[in-house]
Amino acid sequence: TKTILLNSRPSAKPTKENFKFSEEEVPELKDGELLLKTKFVSVDPYLRGRMNDVKSYIPPFEIGKPITSVIIAEVTGSKNNDFKKGDFVSGNLAWKETQIANAKGLNKVDHKAADLTAYLGVLGMTGLTAYFGLTEIGKPKKGETLVVSGAAGAVGSIVGQIGKILGCKVIGIAGTDEKIEILKSKFGFDEGINYKTTKDINAAIKEAAPNGVDVYFDNVGGEITDAVLMNINKFGRIPTCGAIASYNDEEIPTGPRPQPILIKNSVLMQGFIVSNYADKFPEGIKQLATWLKESKITYSETVVEGFENIPQAFMDLFEGKNEGKMVVKI
Ligand code: NDP
Repeated sequence: TKTILLNSRPSAKPTKENFKFSEEEVPELKDGELLLKTKFVSVDPYLRGRMNDVKSYIPPFEIGKPITSVIIAEVTGSKNNDFKKGDFVSGNLAWKETQIANAKGLNKVDHKAADLTAYLGVLGMTGLTAYFGLTEIGKPKKGETLVVSGAAGAVGSIVGQIGKILGCKVIGIAGTDEKIEILKSKFGFDEGINYKTTKDINAAIKEAAPNGVDVYFDNVGGEITDAVLMNINKFGRIPTCGAIASYNDEEIPTGPRPQPILIKNSVLMQGFIVSNYADKFPEGIKQLATWLKESKITYSETVVEGFENIPQAFMDLFEGKNEGKMVVKI
């Protein structure tokens, strides 16, 4: 079966040379195991961190071994009583067209309740990250101003919509005019700032948020965050979710030192990993599914077709080529 291995570790931006396509034998199915056919592959910015040989909250990929990410697969063979042929599962699986897996860590997904890809996005890690980062750390109150960076991406677009449900004024920052238009027309954001064409992002935030920023959901870090910090209000909260602007940096980035701003305004800035909230995932999924059913939230996705295009789809995240969740259909 076709497999994608880590060939080398990237310096700066990942390139196609960092990936290697190979053919591997599919072993015999043993008791307790499942034979899985890959249907949809999630490509995510955090995989960039796993390509480095550094200690993190999740171990690095090994050179010569398959890359893994969350995958939706169809059960095509089963020696496990809990799963049968025709079931769909989601789990952290290898970038292989077909694979044998232990059922541990796999969850059945109901293709009748929602589109399969929703389990990689709004009803998966993406939605949970948005929900818990915003409600547990951001704690937005009615009438407050919420700024979201990476706003037209998978997490950001959900964060903004939850902000609207909770009664906030929501301002999104994203990289194209088309994305800004979608933020307002499809996701109900009040204002949008294109960080690539806006010369003075600080001034643009001041204009969009005349009462200052109460909650800043940070997906990107870097200079965008520097600018939002200049506008943070007293007792502001900053869920630090992602820092994609720095993931390809080879040296530790430097910039303004935020401490005086945080102190002066009693600001809470807290990093988090979605799995911190694992014991509350059922509650989060239930809420997101309810909002989805009631059409209070919606989602978009960029679906790339073909196993051979997985690495390119991943690399395209760093160029902002996706709108909503980036998914590869096999
Ligand atoms: P997205 O769907 O948001 O895709 C990435 C987006 O980032 C691109 O579309 C692009 O949009 C933007 N981007 C790329 N490069 C830059 C840059 N240099 N500066 C600013 N924006 C950039 O991905 P996700 O929604 O999956 O993830 C969003 C963030 O959340 C990531 O940083 C990710 O690591 C983090 N995350 C954290 C989790 C956690 O547990 N803490 C869990 C899941 C995600 P544009 O056109 O606007 O530039």
